[in-house]
Amino acid sequence: MSAFNVAKFGGTSVADFEAMSRCAAVIDNNPNTKLVVSSACSGVTNILVELANGVQEEARRIALVEQLKEIHFSVIGQLKQPEPAKSAVESLLKSVTSAAEAASFQSSDKLTDHIVAYGERMSTHLLTQVMQDRGMNAVRFNIRDIMRTDSSYGKAEAQLEEISALADEKLIPLCKDHVVVTQGFIGADAEGNTTTFGRGGSDYSAALIAEAVKAAGLEIWTDVPGIYTTDPRIASKASPIPEISFSEASEMANFGAKILHPSTLVPALRHQIPVFVGSSKEPEKGGTWIRQQVESQPLFRAIALRRNQTMVTLHSPNMFHAYGFLAEVFQILAKYQISVDLITTSEVSVALTLDKTNTAGGAPELPAEARAELEELCKVDVEYNQSVIALVGNKMSGSKGYAKKVFSTLEDFNLRMICYGASQHNLCFLLHESVAAEAVQKLHAELFEG
Ligand code: ADP
Ligand code: ASP
Ligand code: MG
Repeated sequence: MSAFNVAKFGGTSVADFEAMSRCAAVIDNNPNTKLVVSSACSGVTNILVELANGVQEEARRIALVEQLKEIHFSVIGQLKQPEPAKSAVESLLKSVTSAAEAASFQSSDKLTDHIVAYGERMSTHLLTQVMQDRGMNAVRFNIRDIMRTDSSYGKAEAQLEEISALADEKLIPLCKDHVVVTQGFIGADAEGNTTTFGRGGSDYSAALIAEAVKAAGLEIWTDVPGIYTTDPRIASKASPIPEISFSEASEMANFGAKILHPSTLVPALRHQIPVFVGSSKEPEKGGTWIRQQVESQPLFRAIALRRNQTMVTLHSPNMFHAYGFLAEVFQILAKYQISVDLITTSEVSVALTLDKTNTAGGAPELPAEARAELEELCKVDVEYNQSVIALVGNKMSGSKGYAKKVFSTLEDFNLRMICYGASQHNLCFLLHESVAAEAVQKLHAELFEG
């Protein structure tokens, strides 16, 4: 294990010059921090996604590129040595303009990844210069030189062995004498095409890099001082959790707690790398440690909310006492690479949810061809605008009595699916998006504010 830490800074942490200067101070304060992974400046990826989806009107495209220019030039204007970053950003913005024009004719997942990657490519020029201006020995590194992935654009799979070998060769030697600043979110396939890990993917990038360099620790610096009992934007009385296990934090990330990309903890867990989550704005407030062993294992730890779920219900009287029906359903879903999340069954029907975390965004859809094949087997209903709420904790499938409390708190809500029993760490249910925040608030008040 190397002695150094990997520190990741999210979009709001690198939103402007002041925010980047706070990041530089956090990095400077810890001599063990040798690798810095940065997101795009706040708001930039959203603009790039809009351009990548194809903006027909030229005037709108120009206005969006102008917004990108303003965000980045507001930082450049405050640099002591602005020239290198200025010419780099200018040339990247030119490329954005021509790629956005191409997307207005024909967008694709491949072109989307190429376009959205400009956010991290630009922000890292700025952060590196902010650090150099403070006298730090910072150097910018193109992560696509080592972050090898497959070609699943928008939701790339990391190729761990290649990443590790390339990191040994190209990245680790650079860390000896420098603080290396690099891009989160992006990678490259074997042909050198740019790929991405899906929205929020910089957390995952940082964890993959920490794994590849065998880091001693992974720091996720964001806009809240740690992981809270629920999203503090939803429940104002949510409180920070000082310490949480990998299993609980993974459940939270998987069930939508935006604070961590769902895959973040997989590499950290594989190598037992402790993860810290804190606020780059208020580092003195401390944060959350995610570890294998934790002192307390409360029954209820936190509530996560994942929006934008699609519910698919399949009905067939032929299911009654038949075998092979579910196998056929799953064969069709697998053929179209549809990932299923929650699932519940009855004698004559199956309900399941589809989730989507890829870069292009939008509501998860059941592709028309998949629906047609399923309709040969059964009746298919699709409902959009659903949310999953997950109550995360410990020993839940082995404890008595608490379900009464949970469900009586939610008695006024129409719960569409309930999933319980598969994991000792969660109980989750599906309800309509319009009431999801209110349900989280009620549950939080009952279980965490008493
Ligand atoms: P970054 O840009 O740093 O990656 P994100 O916006 O992706 O930041 O994640 C931080 C946000 O996650 C917080 O501002 C908060 O609204 C949200 N969030 C969701 N669930 C939680 C939770 N349980 N604890 C803390 N923050 C949460
Ligand atoms: N910039 C990307 C996004 O906004 C990745 C990230 O910030 O983690 O989704
Ligand atoms: Mg994030």
